[in-house]
Amino acid sequence: METGGEVPAEWENSVSEVLIGSADISRRVTELGHAISAKYEGLNPLLIVVLKGSYMFASDLSRAMKTPHELEFIRAKSYNGTESCGRVRIDGLENTKLKGRHLIIIEDIVDTGLTLSRLYEHFADAGAASIKTCSFLEKETVRRKSNVPNVDFVAFHIPDKFVIGYGLDYDQQYRHLPFVGVYKQ
Ligand code: 5GP
Ligand code: MG
Ligand code: MG
Repeated sequence: METGGEVPAEWENSVSEVLIGSADISRRVTELGHAISAKYEGLNPLLIVVLKGSYMFASDLSRAMKTPHELEFIRAKSYNGTESCGRVRIDGLENTKLKGRHLIIIEDIVDTGLTLSRLYEHFADAGAASIKTCSFLEKETVRRKSNVPNVDFVAFHIPDKFVIGYGLDYDQQYRHLPFVGVYKQ
């Protein structure tokens, strides 16, 4: 892996380290797209892209998929009392039939895993033929909740640091960085 490299001068004030360089992102996301595509041959999967963080990942992943597929874009809002019994409200699927479809939920990053497991539960009773989860990043985190299922497809595992770029924000900024960087506090 070539990854890392110098922090470009224009980002020196906000990025302490380039964790994954753009060439490595491109190579790995293409590889993952090919792998997912091969598994879904002839199934016309529906990629459910969780906005906003996954927009860049989803577009690169989709381009790398050779088998025909469809995309829907959702916004997910968690609302709850306590962390463990939280629910999620999903906007953007009002006119989409999920029954019988092969769903792939596309996320930007999994930390504790709560967001993704709530999304999974939301779709679990929609009558889908199958549901898999896919995340650009997964943190090696001590915060992972024990009852959260594994992510099916992951592009990169990263250490427990707050990262920005390639779709991921800090306060809505930095999504357009072409690399994944550690945010400089
Ligand atoms: P989880 O529910 O898995 O704990 O958290 C997932 C959500 O937290 C992500 O969808 C993202 O919005 C946010 N998040 C967690 N870690 C990071 C990070 O390192 N950088 C950014 N930008 N967002 C993060
Ligand atoms: Mg997310
Ligand atoms: Mg965010």
